Amino acid sequence: MNALEQQLHYPFGDTLPAVGTTLEVVPGVRWLRMLLPFQLDHINLWLLRDRIDGVDGVDGVDGWSIVDCGITNDATRAAWEQIFANELDGLPVLRVIVTHMHPDHIGLAHWLTEKWNVRLWISATDHHTAQLASAGIAAIGGEATARFMASHGLVDPEAQAQIKARTNYYASMVPQVPASFRRLLAGDVLQINGHAWVCQVGYGHAPEHMALHCAALGTLISGDMVLPRISTNVSVHEGEPESNPLRLYLDSITRMKAALPADVLVLPSHGRPFKGLHTRVDQLVAHHDERLADVIAACAEAPQCAADLLMILFRRQLDLHQTTFAMGESIAHLHLLWLDGRLVRRLDADGIYRFTRA
Ligand SMILES: [Zn+2]
Repeated sequence: MNALEQQLHYPFGDTLPAVGTTLEVVPGVRWLRMLLPFQLDHINLWLLRDRIDGVDGVDGVDGWSIVDCGITNDATRAAWEQIFANELDGLPVLRVIVTHMHPDHIGLAHWLTEKWNVRLWISATDHHTAQLASAGIAAIGGEATARFMASHGLVDPEAQAQIKARTNYYASMVPQVPASFRRLLAGDVLQINGHAWVCQVGYGHAPEHMALHCAALGTLISGDMVLPRISTNVSVHEGEPESNPLRLYLDSITRMKAALPADVLVLPSHGRPFKGLHTRVDQLVAHHDERLADVIAACAEAPQCAADLLMILFRRQLDLHQTTFAMGESIAHLHLLWLDGRLVRRLDADGIYRFTRA
């Protein structure tokens, strides 16, 4: 939780759109929410009034672009059906844009693109990673995750058994990914209803996350890169075990702050639309700096593995689901310091990586 949340401004106060309805946040941009069966219990999705010229030889097609989809389940499909019936002014969906490959964002892309016979727009890296994860080819959960977590000190037998048993997690929410897509690249400009929306690439949370900025509307669809109340998950995964996602993440949000105005309306995937992008980026950088200092201090006293640092980093008891996320974050903090040369990593005889002050 962000203790400095009162430094941000929420232009819509506590108002939330009920599931199955929308709330217009700027002209032509509508906010909708879908429920999630996690502790993080909702995701925000966006409908952009759109007009595409020259689609399949048809000039001037009016309709809507969807940004992000919700996970695959009956409740989310039913909520979308309500939206289609009541909120589209009788117009069709023209495209489905997905910020990144996480299940709450891409889950129903297969259903939405088939239903409307439209294209998925997404970065290539996230499209391919989603396909591999949905097909069970990318290592997400199961034996490989359990081994990786054990190598960072999560050796508790109960936790190990639960991680090994969780092999179908991604595919349960993303059973399919559209086979074809339109590639989004950093700096690409999408013309949406006469306005330019520029793709702002971000790393560290997902392989190649795309936020969308519209200068004319003073609006940023930030996806998961900048959230007002919680800090974005930044994790090392077993598929890329020496990665440095925290460095990538901090560099990405710092670039975003430099590129975008302070008064932009931020439309985040979780929480409420807010103003105060620069303040929020500063808060996130300070938050991670504090945690990094805690990690260095602990490693100066005695060698630490990622599991040793959970209480220092999170300061509360975690359930298993939270523990796996927290482990990824703990490793990410260690890796930033290790790859910067401020910590030294060694593999001990018990097969666990421990880090000491350089
Ligand atoms: Zn995400």
